[in-house]
Amino acid sequence: MVIKPRVRGFVCVTSHPDGCAAHVQQQIDYVQSKGPINDGPKKVLVIGSSTGFGLSSRISAAFGCGASTIGVFFERPSEADRLGTAGWYNTIGFTEKARAAGLYARNFNGDAFSDEIKTQVINAIKEDLGTVDLVVYSLASPRRTHPDTGTVHKSVLKPVGTTYSNRTVDTDRGVVSDVTIEPASEAEIADTIAVMGGDDWERWINALSEAGVLAPDADTVAYSYIGPEVTWDIYKNGTIGLAKNDLEAACARIKEKLSPTGGRAFISVNKALVSQASSAIPVVPLYISILYKIMKAKGTHEGCIEQMQRLFAERLYNGADLQLDEAGRIRIDDLETQPDVQAEGTAIWSQVTTENLEELTDIAGYRAEFLKMFGFGLPGIDYEADSEPHRPMI
Ligand code: NAD
Repeated sequence: MVIKPRVRGFVCVTSHPDGCAAHVQQQIDYVQSKGPINDGPKKVLVIGSSTGFGLSSRISAAFGCGASTIGVFFERPSEADRLGTAGWYNTIGFTEKARAAGLYARNFNGDAFSDEIKTQVINAIKEDLGTVDLVVYSLASPRRTHPDTGTVHKSVLKPVGTTYSNRTVDTDRGVVSDVTIEPASEAEIADTIAVMGGDDWERWINALSEAGVLAPDADTVAYSYIGPEVTWDIYKNGTIGLAKNDLEAACARIKEKLSPTGGRAFISVNKALVSQASSAIPVVPLYISILYKIMKAKGTHEGCIEQMQRLFAERLYNGADLQLDEAGRIRIDDLETQPDVQAEGTAIWSQVTTENLEELTDIAGYRAEFLKMFGFGLPGIDYEADSEPHRPMI
């Protein structure tokens, strides 16, 4: 099958198996170019491991620290005549390369919110690894079926208590327009917290701990975002921000649980990046296009892999200083939040229109990064050639 990108709104409904494998290889090459990470974890569970920050965390753990990894993700498998999702192919690409390098890698494709997947993963740890010494929680999901009640909670990206109007961009068509989003209802707020808050992270840690598969000095980290004031009403102070506050509250409880035996729990605030999750948030893709323009010009631009390699090598391990902020969080968004970067961003924000979008922002870079997430635009891949869509999980 000759596989071309088919973009529908903020998703690409096709993905290229060989391109996804090449994207994973690029990330492995980057991590290896930075050298080994000392004192890193050796047995790592990544929840949300198939794309974005979770995939890059898994690659940093495996190829930077030499860790055995278990990945949990929710992806559509390929079939004889139907493409799988990018995360499916990414995982196969990762697993092939990890095993070729002599590293253990095992995968679970299913609903991480369910008790069933937790039990399966715990059994796999018992069988193969004994314990894990790092748990990365990197889920981004639009919905959660609650394991106790069966209720399906759907997350929304809305402001809280106020109507929000700002500029946004249709990244596909390159049109800048104004968007107005009405505030979330109480039920929508509660649902978003149920999906993207800390309850499931805490359930994972409790289940792993009770089963005796969490090393006494295990670390765990979950990811958050704060961003600039221009996005606060829709992000930091919106429904997703309230869910992230809930994640931070869970972090404090997990920390209390793990610290007596030498374990650690962290929230890492990461940079705004093109991902399948962030492309769905109004306003944010325009901010990212502006940010990329500024940070590329300054030579401080980073993608998921640069961020996660730095998190492991310059914060969590390698004898590094955690450099926590006043709320006890790791700030790997430090280059994004530099005052000069933010001041330039604010200036561009006030000027950007459909007509000057290409000139004032890195919308071209945004689009290229977006397609790369689905395996398109990678060097060395012949996109005119036939590619076998069906790749069984290994
Ligand atoms: P992503 O969409 O690239 O990855 C989400 C992962 O979760 C995938 O592996 C997916 O398969 C998995 N997943 C989703 N639902 C699942 C389910 N029910 N069961 C099992 N797996 C499931 O997202 P991302 O942007 O890498 O986000 C990861 C985390 O980082 C989120 O907490 C997000 O808020 C945070 N973050 C993102 C950004 C950004 O700009 N992208 C910035 C800072 C922090």
